[in-house]
Amino acid sequence: MKLIRFGNPGQEKPGLQLPDGRRIDASAYGSDYDESFFGGDGLALLSTWAAEHADSAPTIDDSTRLASCIARPSKIICVGLNYADHAKEAGAEIPKEPILFFKATSALCGPNDQVIIPRKSEKTDWEVELAIVIGKKASYVSESNALQHVAGYALHNDYSEREWQLERGGQWVKGKSCDTFAPLGPFLATPDEIPDPHNLKLWLKLNGETLQNSSTAQMIFNVPQVISYISQFMTLLPGDLISTGTPPGVGMGIKPDPIFLKPGDTVELGVDGLGTQKQSAIAAP
Ligand code: ZN
Repeated sequence: MKLIRFGNPGQEKPGLQLPDGRRIDASAYGSDYDESFFGGDGLALLSTWAAEHADSAPTIDDSTRLASCIARPSKIICVGLNYADHAKEAGAEIPKEPILFFKATSALCGPNDQVIIPRKSEKTDWEVELAIVIGKKASYVSESNALQHVAGYALHNDYSEREWQLERGGQWVKGKSCDTFAPLGPFLATPDEIPDPHNLKLWLKLNGETLQNSSTAQMIFNVPQVISYISQFMTLLPGDLISTGTPPGVGMGIKPDPIFLKPGDTVELGVDGLGTQKQSAIAAP
């Protein structure tokens, strides 16, 4: 199944993208895609609902805004420097264990929403990533059981303000948490749609030029390792989001002169099987 959410900010409704590409309103099912949905067997119940009602459910117009494909989670946890080539371009050592940081959940937005360059930002940058949505509470999970805790996968652009991340005092959260810095979607794909999350091409273009072009096969710590590792430090709740890191090709890594986002720029990105996103950059009002 491919789960979508749609509608204006603050009025989002759950929906589904069907195998034929049609998008339908699933709000008659009765629950948004949140912690109680994922924790309460919502995926199985939604699948049963869809088998009976998908054909008669209202279709969503193509002009309707797509929202983040999940409701705001309890946590967005990101893995830093999880591709060796990206660690190198960032001038960092290859991590011996996963680097973790948080992103404010208020950064979450729709896959094609405009990205807002924050006030006083000079170094707004992009990061195409494979994101994992947790389907079942996870605490002290083993690597061999980790995939049982996955609700699905989605495309994420982990926008980052590099000065605030790296030059403004010791922790990355300031540079990762601005509004619109976490476009998620267009859809959440359940694991049956993504048989091997470790063999997906991922790419990103700035104004039509390909800057990131890699594969999740290049990740240092894979999906089960990341879930198991995080669950040793905190409880992952249903609906939580984990972003697994970005390959090389971010703006700060471009030699000799880094490139950062300007108003009017267009960013397009995709991961195999998880659709594409497109954002245009605007200055903060
Ligand atoms: Zn990232």
